[in-house]
Amino acid sequence: MPKNIILFGATGSIGTSVLKILDKTNDKYCLKGITCNQNIESLIDISNRYKCDNLGVSNEDLSNDKNEILEKKNTVYGIKNFESFINEDIDIYILAISGLSGASLALRIAETGKTLAIANKECIISLGKILFNKCHKFETSIFPLDSEHNAIYQLLNRNYKPIKNITITASGGPFLDLDLNKFEYITPEQAIKHPKWKMGNKISVDSSNMMNKSLELIEAKNLFHLQPNEVDAIIHPQSIIHGIINYNDNSSYAFLSQPNMEIPISSLFFPNKDYRSNNHDLDLTKLKILEFLEIDNQRFPAFSLGKYIMQKDGIAPHLFNYINDKLVKLFLEGFIKYTKIVNFNERVIELYFKSHQNINEPNIEDLNESSIWVDANIKTIINK
Ligand code: NDP
Ligand code: MG
Repeated sequence: MPKNIILFGATGSIGTSVLKILDKTNDKYCLKGITCNQNIESLIDISNRYKCDNLGVSNEDLSNDKNEILEKKNTVYGIKNFESFINEDIDIYILAISGLSGASLALRIAETGKTLAIANKECIISLGKILFNKCHKFETSIFPLDSEHNAIYQLLNRNYKPIKNITITASGGPFLDLDLNKFEYITPEQAIKHPKWKMGNKISVDSSNMMNKSLELIEAKNLFHLQPNEVDAIIHPQSIIHGIINYNDNSSYAFLSQPNMEIPISSLFFPNKDYRSNNHDLDLTKLKILEFLEIDNQRFPAFSLGKYIMQKDGIAPHLFNYINDKLVKLFLEGFIKYTKIVNFNERVIELYFKSHQNINEPNIEDLNESSIWVDANIKTIINK
């Protein structure tokens, strides 16, 4: 019997990579549902290619456009209605939606007792214990797709425990050597051009200023139930080593591969590593040099802020994540300068904690309330 899959975010960068791997699984997996936000053309194309007639379109306004093809299929509009795809016959839910809009969906999937394969780091960071406790209660397995976390997951599954700590790597992004005086003038076009990975716009901006690595530290701490001092990141410009687990005897195991999402995603469908990739050969003699650098907090203030937020814990990671989402959008739309993405984030969080206590284990209402506070107050910082 093939395993049944729902792919939330099928039209995105991760979604596309998932489909490429699915092509090579010889019908051992069957695509039962796909979703997008608004890219209907691409959704229909995927639906035809994979003979999958359960379609979800998040943008509800699009339900007013009469689309004959969508009308003939089982199409739902609005992300809330994506939950109608959840049923007993589904084995794997892949969450490749970007941003926080998939949070309620993630919590619903956590109740299924099946597998939640998750690329969406924003949900892991903001929901934190709410998501993990729910998965634990309903025996739902979490399978990390983010490359560094997938590397650590693969290493942990195959190696000794306990470990001392873990290290994840960052490529350093497009501005690793840029003159510090030029940071202010960085444009959206420059920020979305990543030297190593092809990704969606939001995560590309996050990667360029090391916000992505800050979020990933928190993601790793949550996924692997670690303490803040047990997770760290370093810059590794060649992006060949993705994750390292370190032991108390001062030996380490590292996970190496070319930087391509095909490799972490294939491990979901080929857990025994019998996936045959025609590309991404790892010829170390061609690489010659692997470099490693500390992350410079002056160049990348997002990293020290991220560590502070990880220590603070409670509602702080959600605030950090939520505010960043808003500020990156404003940057991409040309409303704020590049350097303000981190600067405003820090100041909004500071303002929040002037009038609020931290909440140790926030529930979903706490998260929503803090988001509403941010929506109402972010302008006071931006317009100052
Ligand atoms: P993309 O922007 O390429 O794709 C996002 C997908 O989510 C698209 O299918 C998009 O639909 C859909 N979507 C966007 N907004 C909404 C919404 N409000 N409601 C429902 N669906 C929505 O992103 P990526 O594929 O790059 O990233 C997806 C997630 O994976 C992110 O959380 C990212 O951090 C994480 N990730 C990505 C990596 C990568 O290599 N790309 C690596 C590691 C993690 P539409 O096409 O219609 O806009
Ligand atoms: Mg990553």
